[in-house]
Amino acid sequence: MSDRRKFVKLSLLSSIAMLAGKRLFAADIPAVAELAVPAVKDSPVVISTWDFGKEANTGAWEILRKGGRALDAVEIGVKIPEADPHNQSVGYGGRPDRDGRVTLDACIMDEHSRCGSVAALEHIVHAISVARLVMEKTPHVMIVGDGALQFALANGFKKENLLTEKSEKEWKEWLKESKYAPQKNIENILPGGAKNHDTIGMVAMDKNGDLSGACTTSGMAYKMHGRVGDSPIIGAGLYVDNEIGAATSTGVGEEVIRIVGSHLVVELMRQGLSPEDACKKAVERIVSRNPQAAKDVQVGFLALNKKGVYGAYALQKGFSYSVKNGNTEETFESKYFYS
Ligand code: ASP
Repeated sequence: MSDRRKFVKLSLLSSIAMLAGKRLFAADIPAVAELAVPAVKDSPVVISTWDFGKEANTGAWEILRKGGRALDAVEIGVKIPEADPHNQSVGYGGRPDRDGRVTLDACIMDEHSRCGSVAALEHIVHAISVARLVMEKTPHVMIVGDGALQFALANGFKKENLLTEKSEKEWKEWLKESKYAPQKNIENILPGGAKNHDTIGMVAMDKNGDLSGACTTSGMAYKMHGRVGDSPIIGAGLYVDNEIGAATSTGVGEEVIRIVGSHLVVELMRQGLSPEDACKKAVERIVSRNPQAAKDVQVGFLALNKKGVYGAYALQKGFSYSVKNGNTEETFESKYFYS
C-alpha cells in the first residue's frame, strides 16, 4: 500500500475511532479488502449450525440485545433445540444409539477459556446446562456417562425419558437391518428419508466484544453404546479464544477429532485467515489426511472472529448456518469442497 493510501486509511480509522470515543489499536485496522465491510465489532452477533439454528439464535438474541453475556446467550440459545422433540439430532427426541438409548454430548466455553463438558449423558434434556455446571462448580472439564448423570441429578436436574415415540419407531425399523453406516447428511438414508446426524454448534459475541460458544448433540444415530463424537470435546467440536475468535463443527465427529478441528480453525484465524478461509483450510486438512474417506462423509465448520466477521465451509454441499445480529437474521448455505 502506498504511504498516501496508508495515511488516508489511518486518518479515516482514527476519525471513526475518535467519534466513537475509542482508542485505535493495531488489531482494529482491517485489511484493505475489508474496508468496504462495516466493522461490527461492537455489535452483538450469534451464529449457529444448520437452519434449525435460526430458532436457537432467537433465544440467544434475547440475551445479547439486552446487553447480556455471550455465555448466557449460547446456553439459552441451544436449549431451544435440546427441548424440541421434533429435532431428532439434539437433546429430547434425539435418535438413540444402536441399543435404543439416547446419549447426549455437549460442551461450553467462555471468554476466559473456562470450559465444561459432558459426554454419553442419558436422561437429562439440557446437557448444555450440565456442561456449564461442570465448568462452574467442579475443578474438572469433562464428566461422562453415569458420573455425568449422577452429577446432574445431585444438582437438581430431572431424570426423564428422552426417547420419543417417533425416534423409537425409527430405531426399531433400523434394527431390522442394523446397518451402521454414517453417511453424508445431505441425502436421505434413514427410513422415512431423514438425516442420521446433525448438531447445534453456536458461537456468539456480546456487546463487550467477548466470545463464547456451545455445542450439543445426540450424536450419530445408532452409534455404538458409549461412542463419543467431537461435539463435547473442547478443541474438536468447539473452541473459543477471546483474543482471536471462536469455531464449532458439525458432521462426522471422528473426522473432526482427528484434526482437532475447531482449535485448528481458531489457530488459522490467529495466523490471519478470514473465518471462511480458516474453515476451508480445516476441511482441506481432512481431505488431505484421507481423501477416500472424506468423499463419503459430511463435516462443516463455522467460525466468528473478534471483529464480528463470520464464515463457514463444509466438505459437501448442504451445510447451512444461521446468523443473527442487529441487522440480519438469515440462513446461508456454506461453500463446500466436493462439487
Ligand atoms: N458431530 C456429531 C457427532 O459426531 C454429529 C453431527 O454433527 O452431525 O456426534
